[in-house]
Amino acid sequence: MPMIIAPTASYDAEHTQPVREKLFQVAQTYLSEDELILLEKACAYAFHAHYGVNRKSGEPYITHPIAVAIELAQWGMDVQTLCAGLMHDVLEDVKTISHAQMEAEFGKTITAIVEGVSKLDKVKFTDKDEHKAESFQKLILAMVKDVRVIIVKLADRLHNMRTLSGVPKISKRRSTAQETLDIYANIANRLGMNMVYRELQDLSFANMYPMRHLGLFHAMERFRYNRSDMFMYMERNLQERFQDFNLKAEIKFVPKGLYGIYRKMKKNKLTFNKVRELYNLQIVVDTVSDCYLALGAVHSVYKPTPGRIKDLIAIPKSNGYQGVHTTLALRENFNLEVQIRTRKMDAVAKYGITANLGRNGDHAMNEWLQNVSDLQENSANALEFLEIFTNDLFSREVYALTPRGDVVSLPFGSTPVDFAYAVHTDVGNRCVASRIDDKLVPLSTVLRSGNKVEIITSKEARPSPAWLNFAKSGRARTAIRNYVKNTSRADAVQLGGVLLAKALDNVLPKKVASSEQLMQHYLDKLKENESSLEEVQYQIGTGQMLPIEAVRDIAELAGEYFDDAVFSSIRLSGNHHIRIRLGECCRPVAGDAVHGVISEGKGLVVHRDHCPELLKTPPEQQLETNWGSVGQYVNQYDAEILVSAKDGHALLADISSAISSVDSNIVSVQTVPMSQVAKGMIEFRFVLNVRDLAHLDDIIARLKQIPNVQRAERI
Ligand code: MN
Repeated sequence: MPMIIAPTASYDAEHTQPVREKLFQVAQTYLSEDELILLEKACAYAFHAHYGVNRKSGEPYITHPIAVAIELAQWGMDVQTLCAGLMHDVLEDVKTISHAQMEAEFGKTITAIVEGVSKLDKVKFTDKDEHKAESFQKLILAMVKDVRVIIVKLADRLHNMRTLSGVPKISKRRSTAQETLDIYANIANRLGMNMVYRELQDLSFANMYPMRHLGLFHAMERFRYNRSDMFMYMERNLQERFQDFNLKAEIKFVPKGLYGIYRKMKKNKLTFNKVRELYNLQIVVDTVSDCYLALGAVHSVYKPTPGRIKDLIAIPKSNGYQGVHTTLALRENFNLEVQIRTRKMDAVAKYGITANLGRNGDHAMNEWLQNVSDLQENSANALEFLEIFTNDLFSREVYALTPRGDVVSLPFGSTPVDFAYAVHTDVGNRCVASRIDDKLVPLSTVLRSGNKVEIITSKEARPSPAWLNFAKSGRARTAIRNYVKNTSRADAVQLGGVLLAKALDNVLPKKVASSEQLMQHYLDKLKENESSLEEVQYQIGTGQMLPIEAVRDIAELAGEYFDDAVFSSIRLSGNHHIRIRLGECCRPVAGDAVHGVISEGKGLVVHRDHCPELLKTPPEQQLETNWGSVGQYVNQYDAEILVSAKDGHALLADISSAISSVDSNIVSVQTVPMSQVAKGMIEFRFVLNVRDLAHLDDIIARLKQIPNVQRAERI
């Protein structure tokens, strides 16, 4: 191929010219002529700057930056990044060239990238935590300003790792490998640059444990050799089936990374022969719908492992990865993970952020960078930043599902609050409760992979500072902290005032609660303790104090000054002044686990523990409640039950006589619409009078004895 761009420096023929040619061969496939001229200018500039300096291996130093630029060109990076790659060591190593000089020659952008890389070179990751945290922050800051700094640094590190054998000192090789594994491999992974991630890991592994690496390498070779017939047979089988579906697909068996296999063996104390997952099967098709078609075709030939089918197309992984996965359990005693992708997804899978950087803009990645930048602004110190950031970056991920079956990836230990914020900030800000696998759970519940998560929102809801105790993802923590920060003190005081007044009104007799005399005693007491009413209201308003704690203090004072208000903290027994109602939403019955909520105009409303209405109220308004206290005021309860039966004549008559035979009454009955019921079945919702939970159990047992009844249960 003819070179469009003539060399402008007298490169040596032995080492430099060949690599320079290679760089231009790759670059000219996608850069314009003007850009190639700029590239040659940078090449010559770097050549002169490093002139006379050799690498430890004996080659001229310039071969290293050119190799870095070749790598960047293979990733399809823009000309600025390539130029920065060529000159990445110039500012650091060549004292005669200044920042201003380079900027005059190559402009702000390229110089800023070079400077970013030089700064990163000074970052040393030592074991001291505080120091590491600060270094890390610098690293990430550089990244947020222009992610191309990190891309150049990764290409630099990759070439250094490939040529690490040129470094004579074993201890130096080891520490470089360790740092690569700890920091750079993980960053490559986070940016979705899977090829680089894998190579950095395996090169680090080879340098840290050369013998183990070699052993595994040979074991994998043997494995491949022994299975080659089987792989060929499988490929033929699948291609035949794809033809039936009119599918064009590329099929490839790809070995897993040696380091990944090594880690798995070590963690699970396995010998190589016991590792079941050594290979992936990659299938590349033309369109998204072909991906699902191919999945079906694969399953029609080989049985999938249940629970291992992952749809990462609808909602990509946080590093932008998309694909459909399934795991086949093969007779030959190993599992094969099948990854089905379109060509575009395949490019993202291999090259991550660099697959579409600067072209159509990777949405997921921009969003992630934005998160990192938010996080940085809102972190109190470097350590906190590191803690939050590493949560997102390094911890294992969990994959939860939306009700539609879309996958949301979250840091390990995440809760429904994290899930809600991952879906949308508004969903997070308005979430009040959640269902995991159709069961109502508190927002603090830790999610596990495969959980189906549904978020219940309310227009009035607001984020609670208490969520910071369990929210894990940077995104959720930032949003919550922002909200709290933006809630002004005045707002908090006002809200606290309202909450306190409400709690007082509902707990103390009106005469007592509104007594100015009592309030004066309370103010005096606060003053004694160097506090103030405003401070108490602020603490309540920001969720640092429960309203009932303040009420308890006030009630204690009331006990001292009012004879008719003997008040024993929040135990409900013996207090005639509390109005008690049973929640119509969940219809609690004596014996159920319950909580009370003090609410305006309604007194104390008792809810069953998993009632959505209860979970919607802020935890600080929920009171421990037991039936010993409530039961004194109520002796009859309404319970709602669902009866599902085969349709037949006299069914309703059978049911009502069963109900009266156990001494209960039907308060109301509703028929569930035919459209919601299986054919030939009929369903009723009854509200019945019951004495307690035991009575309700009797009724249900009696109903189940009716021949046509298939199901009878409490709602
Ligand atoms: Mn370098």
